[in-house]
Amino acid sequence: MLDFRNVGHAYNGTPSVSDVSFTVDEGEVVSLLGPSGCGKTTLLRLAAGLETPSKGQILLQNQIVSSPDHSLPPEKRGIGFMFQDYALFPHLSVIQNVLFGLKTRGSAAIARAMDTLAQTGIEDLADVYPHELSGGQQQRVALARALAPNPKVILLDEPYAGLDSRLRERIRDQMLHVLKAAGTAALMVTHDAEEAMFMSDRIVVLREGEIEQAGRPVNLYCQP
Ligand code: ADP
Ligand code: ADP
Repeated sequence: MLDFRNVGHAYNGTPSVSDVSFTVDEGEVVSLLGPSGCGKTTLLRLAAGLETPSKGQILLQNQIVSSPDHSLPPEKRGIGFMFQDYALFPHLSVIQNVLFGLKTRGSAAIARAMDTLAQTGIEDLADVYPHELSGGQQQRVALARALAPNPKVILLDEPYAGLDSRLRERIRDQMLHVLKAAGTAALMVTHDAEEAMFMSDRIVVLREGEIEQAGRPVNLYCQP
């Protein structure tokens, strides 16, 4: 589905990730785990097409979408992106936020947006504005907006960072359920090992821009 092959990247000559290879298979949730500065966000940005690799290739459904001399623009990748701060449009209602990501317009688009709001359990909030929502509700709008175009892969940057710890547990349960029900593969960034263990089919542990270990949660040794 999403395939990183020996990917390297640098910011103005300073390496950020080097020789990173891993895959996200159909329907899988894969976490990128590691301390601040280890290259997690850069890998998401590379997958999204917001950065170009200096080495290697990224493939999406067996097509090269990123290499040092070719980068398919973000909007042509069919990837959903959920930002850490949700990035909702404050002047648009919930349903208008979700419609924003859709290429179609009219009744089909509205039906799709309402379906996605139902999937994430917030269909009664369609006409509400972001400032009227709790953090958890905003998170679900952001998830609905990312899922509405029915992407093959969704990229999640620290999806629970803005939530308090009790809410986080409930939301991550719901979110996992939504992703699995939709069959959408996900690549998620976190610095929280427990969260990665709970959410992921596989975890890629990074250190200083390189993969330290990768595997299923039960097979990974995690430092306390
Ligand atoms: P993480 O998401 O794991 O915190 P990042 O991918 O943000 O890590 O950063 C990887 C490395 O690249 C770090 O050394 C960071 O300081 C550097 N870096 C990230 N973004 C930029 C940028 N826009 N310009 C220069 N260096 C950057
Ligand atoms: P995160 O914890 O999500 O990685 P950071 O606080 O590391 O976020 O970085 C926030 C923003 O600053 C990101 O957009 C990142 O690309 C940018 N950034 C990180 N390190 C650097 C750096 N050394 N120089 C310039 N920009 C950076």
